[in-house]
This record gives sequence, C-alpha cells and structure tokens, in this order.
Amino acid sequence: MNECQPSPDQPLLPGLYIVATPIGNLGDITLRAVETLRRCDGVACEDTRVTGKLMRHLGLSKPLWRYDDHTEDRDRARLVASMQDRAVALVSDAGTPLVSDPGYRLINACLEAGVMVTTLPGPCAAIAALTLAGLPSDRFLFAGFLPAKDKARRDLLDELAASRSTIILYDTAPRLVRSLAAIAEAMPGREVAVARELTKLHEECRRGSPEALIAHYEARPPKGEIVLLIGPGGADVGAAQDVDALLDEAMLEMKPSQAAAAVARATGQDRKLLYARALARKP
Ligand code: SAM
Repeated sequence: MNECQPSPDQPLLPGLYIVATPIGNLGDITLRAVETLRRCDGVACEDTRVTGKLMRHLGLSKPLWRYDDHTEDRDRARLVASMQDRAVALVSDAGTPLVSDPGYRLINACLEAGVMVTTLPGPCAAIAALTLAGLPSDRFLFAGFLPAKDKARRDLLDELAASRSTIILYDTAPRLVRSLAAIAEAMPGREVAVARELTKLHEECRRGSPEALIAHYEARPPKGEIVLLIGPGGADVGAAQDVDALLDEAMLEMKPSQAAAAVARATGQDRKLLYARALARKP
C-alpha cells in the first residue's frame, strides 16, 4: 500500500487528496473516499452547499473551503502552504476533480511546492458514458464541453473530425439538438450516442445517426445531464483509393484546400495529409 493512503490506525499524512465523488447515485462513493473524507483536516470544494450535502449524507462534518481555479493566487498559495501540516481533500460537485472541473492549478501549485499529492479514483461521467455507449473504446478522445457558440462549436468539431478515436463531449440538455445538428454537418455518417442521467433514476443511453437522434429529442425534449459520444470514421474510409476518388471528385468544383477540408469532414481523415495528397493529384 502506498504510504500516503489511509490506514485505519494512522493519521492521514499531510498533503492533497484528490477525491472522486458520485455523479448521481450516492452509492457509487468508494470506501477509500469515505475514509479519506472522514480523516482529512478539511475539504476544498467548488460549492460548499453541494459538498455539505454529501458530507451530511455520509454523517461527516469537516471544515469546507471554497476553491476553484479562479481563486486568487494568494489564497491558493495559502491553501497549499497549509498542506505542509494538514491533509486536505479536493472534491468537485460531482465526479472526478480536474475533468472539466477545478483542480489543475492547485495540483501544479502543490507539485511546485513539494506537497504530497495523491488521487482516489472513482466516478467520472465521461468514462461511465464510454462504457455504456457500445462505441469503440480502445481509443477515445475527451474534449470537454462542446462550446455553446456556433463558430467555436464548428471549429472544435472540424478539428476533431480528423480523429480516429471515439470522441467524448460534455453537453447540456437545452443545447443537445443544436449540437447533434452541428455534428451531422461537420462529421456526416458518424454514429453518435447520447448518455443521459447516468447512474440516476432516468439513466438512458441512446445510439444512432445524428438525424435519428435529432428526430427523437425534438419530439421528447431531453432533461438532465448529458454526455455526447461520436464514433470514429468508418473503417474503410482509410482506403487510399476511395480517398483519392473523393478528392478527385471534390476538386472538380473546389480548390485543393477546400477539397481536402470537405473530404476530411466526410471521412475523419487528417486534413493536412489530404491537402498534400490533393496537391499531388491536381491535374
Ligand atoms: N468532473 C465531472 C466528471 O468526472 O464527470 C464532470 C463535471 S462537468 C462540470 C459536468 C458535466 O458532466 C455535465 O454537464 C454533464 O455533461 C456531465 N455529467 C455529469 N454527471 C452526469 C450524469 N450523471 N449523466 C450524464 N452526464 C453527466
């Protein structure tokens, strides 16, 4: 056992304990998480009301300190300095800290100050969704929240279209239909999954084309928390002959750069490589 992990008869060593908490079902908290929250000197959290509720559910009472990565440097430095002789747990409202949640700056400040940092893994919506979606799980790319603004969303999807991994994104219920429409446009022909309300009463995971999912969610507007997953481009789109044929056809009407961008969107292949190929094939 790592010496910074709690054992029942020893106090926790000073330092930072990154603690994952449930994403819905409170039964998902780990034994080590409960033990660490019980024995730490205090908890740094995003929202003291949310964490206070979890602590009450666990029958625990500890000092709660509000922390996010926008916390003033001076306050972060004070928190880090306190870890020279205090065991501090870092939690977010739900799931794994640092995954689209605060913590990155705090961990770096601890590492720079030579403070012990350890992690207690547990629930994470992105990973829970990946396990449920039935999309290839051997390679995946987590890209955080899909931006709300049209241009930023399109730019991100265009960038991701070249990836050959399953793409995982966080999204919100009110934006879901618009997000699916943007995916249909930027990555035609991909299989998509919507994982909603994971570990909660109304958990669902629905898979299909973006068009079919748009029809479903337009008829039944979704509620709750959502993870969106996009399957990788089809296996046979990598065939060089197919790509060349697509480039040749696109270049009948477009400049090589535009043809490369269009074929990249359609196939999920790397736009720069396609551009080089397009230039080589240009009559
Ligand atoms: N750090 C968290 C984690 O490990 O999953 C994620 C925090 S991020 C601020 C919150 C987003 O995660 C939500 O908007 C939603 O996209 C996703 N999420 C969290 N809980 C979820 C759940 N139970 N079902 C589906 N998505 C969830």
